[in-house]
Amino acid sequence: MSTVRLRRPIQRDCECCSRAEVWDEETGSWRIAAGDAVGDPFCIHEWDIDGTFRPYE
Ligand SMILES: [Zn+2]
Repeated sequence: MSTVRLRRPIQRDCECCSRAEVWDEETGSWRIAAGDAVGDPFCIHEWDIDGTFRPYE
């Protein structure tokens, strides 16, 4: 009867500008990983992400 989830934070990195973001379950959106590179704000962002997770339906 365990409802505790021990998943690691989902993270994605841009292959173009090295921007790093983590998935925030509380807000349901991506946010820049603390202490990580914000990358290029004008970059299209080619995310290198685990294919099993789809933030968009
Ligand atoms: Zn980028």
